[in-house]
Amino acid sequence: MYTGNCKPFDSRIWLSSPTMHGEEMQFMKEAYETNWMSTVGANINEVEKLACEKTGCKYAVALASGTSALHLAVKLAGVQTGDLVACSDMTFGATVNPVVYEGGIPVFIDTEYDTWNMDPAALEKAFEQYSDIKAVVLAHLYGTPGKMDEINAICSRYGAVLIEDAAEALGAFYKGKPCGSLGQYNAISFNGNKIITGSSGGMLLTDDAEAADRVRKWSTQSRENAPWYQHEELGYNYRMSNVIAGVVRGQFPHLEEHIAQKNAIYERYREGFRGLPVTMNPVEEEHSVPNYWLSCMLINPEAMCSQVRSDCEVLYTPEHGKSCPTEILEALANCNAEGRPIWKPMHMQPIYRMNPFITREGSGRAKTNAYISGGSKGMDGRPLDVGMDIFHRGLCLPSDNKMTPEQQDRIIAIVRACFE
Ligand SMILES: *Cc1c(COP(=O)(O)O)cnc(C)c1O
Repeated sequence: MYTGNCKPFDSRIWLSSPTMHGEEMQFMKEAYETNWMSTVGANINEVEKLACEKTGCKYAVALASGTSALHLAVKLAGVQTGDLVACSDMTFGATVNPVVYEGGIPVFIDTEYDTWNMDPAALEKAFEQYSDIKAVVLAHLYGTPGKMDEINAICSRYGAVLIEDAAEALGAFYKGKPCGSLGQYNAISFNGNKIITGSSGGMLLTDDAEAADRVRKWSTQSRENAPWYQHEELGYNYRMSNVIAGVVRGQFPHLEEHIAQKNAIYERYREGFRGLPVTMNPVEEEHSVPNYWLSCMLINPEAMCSQVRSDCEVLYTPEHGKSCPTEILEALANCNAEGRPIWKPMHMQPIYRMNPFITREGSGRAKTNAYISGGSKGMDGRPLDVGMDIFHRGLCLPSDNKMTPEQQDRIIAIVRACFE
């Protein structure tokens, strides 16, 4: 129960805000001065080259956002009306919405505790039940790679296309291989709060030359090679601007530096929380080098005070020696620091509540939408699925790479005070 008495930070401590270095301005200015103020130009060519170098992918197409990259990846996978697509469940909505843009039906796959990503055992169950699943969209949450070997093996066995949502994982590695190169079609994002940013922007990455060409064409309104505007297929205005590309170009050389800062933040939290009944988000160091995009914490079941969440509201009961994500987020907000709940699982979202949801035990649909706890049980007394359990007990901590160690120590003290 929060017993602290905080003096709010003078300036807000953000979850994860853009960190500029100067070169970005230089490249934007160059675009301006040479009048390449459009979706063509040197910055775009350069960021595509840089992304290929970083990820080892042969081809990169710079786009307006990570979401547009995922949309065109879903099109490349050939998803059509009524096709089933297995998707990460505990993730940002942008992972799965593009499936629906194409008329596909997301089948949500439960999460595993080792990496907080798609559970291969649940994916296997999904294919047993729906052998015609056409594609799999897997997100690496908070910069920690998922269990790619297992998931790749399942996709190969069933002939499904693997799409990697590496929006949060640029710069992370799985068994020595860069995230953004692990699926057939891969998406990264330069949204304002990602590890590096263009203020917005994204990219599709692949080793398939023909696929890259199709994306290039689709993203610029699908013009055919003709003297006039000739169209044979549906087009989109999805190309990255050369001004945005200037920002991304200036950020790329700082990727490793940002990761080192985020890593230090993660380690400082881990040290600072020693003795508390909490764990940090997994980083699976044996197989992976994460990018530490966000530091998150998970409260042990026995240290949770009662917390109930309905669709849009939450209640909790303060208790000595215990806390809950709501209490901690409130305490942080009162001190002018920004935390965030864990991504609420997609199978619990009203828009997706009727979609299939598969756990490692087999099929399941959301049975209740409000949870009470002492531990990890739902209102009906049954254990929560893994995604809802992490949503219930976890939260994202302020992880801004401009936060000073002193500021972070104060954040740690606020969290500690919640358990007094
Ligand atoms: C940010 C994000 C996206 C979307 O990227 P945008 O560039 O904002 O469109 C997709 N998936 C995940 C997991 C993300 O975190």
